[in-house]
Amino acid sequence: MSQQLGWKHHALIQALMSRGPLDEKEFHEIFIGITGKNPATHPQIFNDCLLKINKELAFVQFELRACRNQYNGKVYYGIINNVADEQSKLGTKYSVPQIAFYKGVIEAIVQDMSTQGCITNIEALNVHLENQVQTEQASQDSQSHIPAAFKSFSLSQKEKALNDLIQDQWLCYTSDGKIGLGIRSFFDLRSWFRNNDIPSCDVCNEAGVKALTCPNEGCPVRLHDYCLKKKFSQRKGSRACPGCGTEWPGSQCQEEDHTNTPGQSQMTSDDPIMRGKRRKVKAEAVEATQAPPGPERAKRLRSCKTEAVGTAENEASPSNLRRRSRRSSRI
Ligand SMILES: [Zn+2]
Ligand SMILES: [Zn+2]
Repeated sequence: MSQQLGWKHHALIQALMSRGPLDEKEFHEIFIGITGKNPATHPQIFNDCLLKINKELAFVQFELRACRNQYNGKVYYGIINNVADEQSKLGTKYSVPQIAFYKGVIEAIVQDMSTQGCITNIEALNVHLENQVQTEQASQDSQSHIPAAFKSFSLSQKEKALNDLIQDQWLCYTSDGKIGLGIRSFFDLRSWFRNNDIPSCDVCNEAGVKALTCPNEGCPVRLHDYCLKKKFSQRKGSRACPGCGTEWPGSQCQEEDHTNTPGQSQMTSDDPIMRGKRRKVKAEAVEATQAPPGPERAKRLRSCKTEAVGTAENEASPSNLRRRSRRSSRI
């Protein structure tokens, strides 16, 4: 059994629970304020502290982790509950039809074949709640089970839900004014992405929601733009796709050169907090590489609701869960 946490650990947990997710700069400032140590100059102290917190949080199935906002590459810190479902995470503020709407928007965003990770406002407002009804067997008469609150969920109610979800960082406005995943969703939907076979980035193994795809159309490799930059800057000259060997165009990389602000995180996938369950995911990533890219993506996605609960089982047997998820119908 590990040692008990001190007040400094509790203060960090409290900051993340009440105000998180926090971007790296904010979290570092809080860390400096509490401990007097700068994570940039004392990375070992910082990492040890977070690992110690995680040892304790694990008993209650919470986890402190870092996660990137895939639209701008910025690192955030947050505490996630590894067992609660979306109903309980959003349920204190959002109604059942609002949560169904959120799930519908998320599904539409991740199904975007161009991997821009966003949909237009109009596409979001066109999301049908009827598709989110729980139909385990997807029976013919599912129409009769659609709750009245789903049928009567109006356009203005969708607009309000969109605004609230953006306000609360479950969704976001992307730089070009479209609707994308909010930072809370990047934190909380991690295992849901895996269970729904959202292809992972070849570098960091996180879902490639906003990502670049291999120029070879038949190749399923995806890379985040910030990961692509890191990968190809290390091996000058060669920009061969890790999957099929096709050369990736260089222009994408150079365009990104000036987007990284000085002082941005040096955190890599080797970082203990960032790394997560990398090793276990590896097999899944390999499996995904072999999966047929086209029709696979069009399948119905697994319910958000069981996502978090699935985490534990998922560790034991990812392939079982994946197979099950393919068969299960849309909620
Ligand atoms: Zn990546
Ligand atoms: Zn490729």
